[in-house]
Amino acid sequence: MIVVLTVVMAVILGGCHNDSSNTTKAKYIFLMIGDGMGHSHIDITESYISSKAGKLGGEQLTMTKFPFYGTCSTYCEDQTITCSAAAGTAIACGQKTCYSRIGCDKNYNRLESMAYKLKEDGYKIGLLSSVPINQATPAAFYACAKNRYDGYEIIRQIPQSGFEFIGGSGIEEMYGKDGDQLKADKYLEQMGYEVCFGEDEFREVADTCERIILCQSKSRDREPSSYTLEDAEEATDMSLATMLKMAIGYLGEDSPFFIMCEGGEIDWVAHANLTMPLIKSIIKFDEAIAVAYEFYKKHPEETIIVVTADHETGGITLGQGDSWSDTYIDWEKIEERWKQEKGKCYKDATANREFNKDAHIGWTTSYHTGGTVPVYSIGKGAEKFSGRIDNTEIRGKLLGE
Ligand SMILES: [Zn+2]
Repeated sequence: MIVVLTVVMAVILGGCHNDSSNTTKAKYIFLMIGDGMGHSHIDITESYISSKAGKLGGEQLTMTKFPFYGTCSTYCEDQTITCSAAAGTAIACGQKTCYSRIGCDKNYNRLESMAYKLKEDGYKIGLLSSVPINQATPAAFYACAKNRYDGYEIIRQIPQSGFEFIGGSGIEEMYGKDGDQLKADKYLEQMGYEVCFGEDEFREVADTCERIILCQSKSRDREPSSYTLEDAEEATDMSLATMLKMAIGYLGEDSPFFIMCEGGEIDWVAHANLTMPLIKSIIKFDEAIAVAYEFYKKHPEETIIVVTADHETGGITLGQGDSWSDTYIDWEKIEERWKQEKGKCYKDATANREFNKDAHIGWTTSYHTGGTVPVYSIGKGAEKFSGRIDNTEIRGKLLGE
């Protein structure tokens, strides 16, 4: 009798237990965020890769081959045109907030990011970015801050999350604003994280530690001001794709996981209206998406990949000019000229404007725009992301609510 009761209880409890096998959410969740990546950024990159194949169009990035396509509104609570902090919060927490807020509402009440909810449900958590780990997008998934630029205060909130893997180019504001506080990486180590700079250090400790922070090796002693646009364009010691492979390997396949992976420099180069670096940043982000897609192919029934953006940056268009003779975009010529003039274009906005004009690439702003952003998805529950959605719906759809 006791045995029978135990079995019955186990079935009832098992039925109630919120594990990934009996809910509508996927066991393995990839949320890929191209910071500032609008529809046109994709069009331009596909035009470029088509030209490499000797065509005017038709070549596709991995993300645009996904079966479900939607478009997502991005406005925040008090502005038509949002920022990465408010938009990241809307995505992570499922609620609109005011400009610049991270993980809190307009009255500074903490909101619950989906990463915390999933951790509670037994998921391992990985947050990854190609820019510093305390920039607005990753921060929206672990921190609560009035000001997105309080880098040191944001980084100090990582330990309370207990998230297993946090990776990025480095840490912004290593020493805090008054400069005499404990260096951020030392603080994180004191609080139980292994902080690794570069792949070699990561390999040494990855098998034995429970929580890890991964940064590019050259970022060890750098201050935020030393991150430059050239850094974003130039190859770093680990690409975003490589770091995503490391995150997947670290989290393992035994327990469910959630990975947020951000192509962060897309926004940086778009702010500066740099056409060729923009294309390269989209390609690098797509290479990371291809890593997630390889994982999906091994576990198609249990995996979801959602690719979107927090907002659009730059108002870029494939075409600029006022006559029919401006309708051919000669990528070979543009790339050749970029090699000659990139040094000048990085420093001089006028020279860069001239470059873009001759390339027939239009940019309307050095800031964000209020346009909708694309959503590409594949896998378990991916159909929910097709059609018109709002950024506050992403959390609930991923959580299977
Ligand atoms: Zn931006």
